[in-house]
Amino acid sequence: MLSVAEARERILSHFQNTAEENIPLIECANRILAMDIIAVHDLPLFDNSSMDGFAIRAVDSIIAAASGVTLSVVADIPAGSVPTVTLAQGQAARIMTGAQMPNGADAVIPVEDTDFHSRDAGTAAPQTVSFTRTVKTGENVRPRGMDLRADDVVLQKGRRLKSQDLGLLAMLGIARVQVHKKPRIALLSSGDELLEVDAPLTAGKIHDSNSYALAASINNAGAEVIRMGVAKDSRESVEGLLQKAVQENVELIVASAGVSMGAFDFVKEVIESNGKLDFWKVNMRPGKPLAFGEYRGKPLIGLPGNPVSAFVGFEVFVRPALERLSGQLDGNRLRIKVRCGEEIESDGRESYLRAKISLEDGIQIATLTGHQGSGNLLSLVQADALLIIPAGVKCVPVGQEVEALLL
Ligand code: AMP
Ligand code: MG
Repeated sequence: MLSVAEARERILSHFQNTAEENIPLIECANRILAMDIIAVHDLPLFDNSSMDGFAIRAVDSIIAAASGVTLSVVADIPAGSVPTVTLAQGQAARIMTGAQMPNGADAVIPVEDTDFHSRDAGTAAPQTVSFTRTVKTGENVRPRGMDLRADDVVLQKGRRLKSQDLGLLAMLGIARVQVHKKPRIALLSSGDELLEVDAPLTAGKIHDSNSYALAASINNAGAEVIRMGVAKDSRESVEGLLQKAVQENVELIVASAGVSMGAFDFVKEVIESNGKLDFWKVNMRPGKPLAFGEYRGKPLIGLPGNPVSAFVGFEVFVRPALERLSGQLDGNRLRIKVRCGEEIESDGRESYLRAKISLEDGIQIATLTGHQGSGNLLSLVQADALLIIPAGVKCVPVGQEVEALLL
């Protein structure tokens, strides 16, 4: 049977990056950068104060510790203004956080370390300021270029843009950003037992939960989801919905259920008769029945129906496909090493087991969150990670190190 790695490679070979577009910065969260971002100027761009206080010449403070020092305040420099003075010996300027340092000054004494105690907004600067400690050259000054220099590569192509990245782009005055287009993904469920979430449950039925969990996963992977609804367990219904999905101009169709060997599992068969089935079984647990192929030229991943299997199948195959499509080079899921807090039995397939991670004496210990039935969604809800037990392993003893995919 196909290994997980082989199956993933076969899927990935069908995808390439979406086209690029240039969009306003405010829309860039979670989007994937299509080019390196190079700083157009230093940050900070000018020497500025990191405190509300008084800009001084550090040398004037040398005697302060012994006898106190009093300087005359010759300017008031609010943030956003351009200082016009040059400090001479014995002079200071009141200065606010973020305001540009005046010429001649090389340090800032915070207001709370001086005799000027008024904190009220609108208070005028005093004539003089006194203090009784020495101030080091550069103290409370953020010099130009301290954070980064013009021409530095600050964000790399293929990065998924985070909130803080948007802040940095704004600092650099970059109003529009070259990113990859969001991949469009059609999502459908299948099964006669499935009801919409707001429909009252009747005998033998369950709510369609996959389409909610998977839609959220697609969204948070940075793709656009087109929800196609639920197909009945009939050839016509499955074909009808897949046909609609094809017309939606999507890069990928994701379906769940109907890919195993049941008498009513039509998804696989419909792919075979309207395109080609590349594979439909992977040596993994949960989620062995997992189909990949093309329906009328559109790549289609048929995830298993069981909710945990569908989720795991998404993480292992669909997320990497979305990353490939969107041009993302940095993965979203961290893999770490943890130690098993209990003996774990496996069946020899590459297994993804739901586990909680706790820190004991500085070591990350994994314990399973409950029975590993593929319908037990609560145990996934309670998990911090999926432990990856490699193919061929039947038993992992307590204390052994295993890889964990952080959720
Ligand atoms: P199947 O792949 O159709 O044999 O379905 C396997 C299991 O997953 C069955 O117990 C189904 O009821 C369940 N299942 C299938 N689709 C969904 C869905 N969209 N939401 C929740 N459970 C599902
Ligand atoms: Mg079914």
